[in-house]
Amino acid sequence: MEADIEKLSKEIERLRALVYYDHLTGAFNRLGFKEEAEKVLRISFGRSAVERRVGFQIPFSVLAIDIDDFKKINDTYGHHAGDNVLKEVAYVLQESLRETDLVARWGGEEFVAALLGADLKAAKKVGENLRSAVEKREILVDGHAIKVTISLGIAGYGKENSLEEIIHKADQAMYEAKRQGKNRVIVSE
Ligand code: GH3
Ligand code: MG
Ligand code: MG
Repeated sequence: MEADIEKLSKEIERLRALVYYDHLTGAFNRLGFKEEAEKVLRISFGRSAVERRVGFQIPFSVLAIDIDDFKKINDTYGHHAGDNVLKEVAYVLQESLRETDLVARWGGEEFVAALLGADLKAAKKVGENLRSAVEKREILVDGHAIKVTISLGIAGYGKENSLEEIIHKADQAMYEAKRQGKNRVIVSE
């Protein structure tokens, strides 16, 4: 009986990992990110009566991160190399961020990160660190040392924003970073 329960809970863990994480990079997928970020937001904007009275809020920022000219990597070195670049960039993001931060693969070569406790100013510093860490990294694939850069957009959680809205704002700032020449960080107003 106990062994059965243990088996079952292991199986639930395994299924959870399939549902909430991106298979290639090990980062959260969209669903996992949304679940976790909503939890974090409930803590950050707990909204108990006392918190409302004193206006207590933990800052919360979101980063939209897109690899620059990624198609060229696939075209030049092949899809396998592209996959390795994705894994390595995800790894750099995860190792550079705090344990309480969330990193998700949003799709293709785009990632989203959520930073609990970081206002826009702090998030900009973090974004700049990530940009520089990725730029410096040499990714070794099949004897090639590949270098990539990322463009980042940042938005902060204000009073009325929903998670969707803030991700959208961060994404728009990221597109502005692309327009301005890529390999840079833009903070949404
Ligand atoms: P930009 O600097 O404007 O972001 O250009 P880009 O080339 O990075 O962006 P674009 O959207 O033109 O191309 C993204 C490419 O990413 C195209 C697609 O084939 C590739 N891609 C998406 N998912 C994967 C994946 O899982 N593995 C690999 N190897 N490539 C992927
Ligand atoms: Mg790209
Ligand atoms: Mg993209």
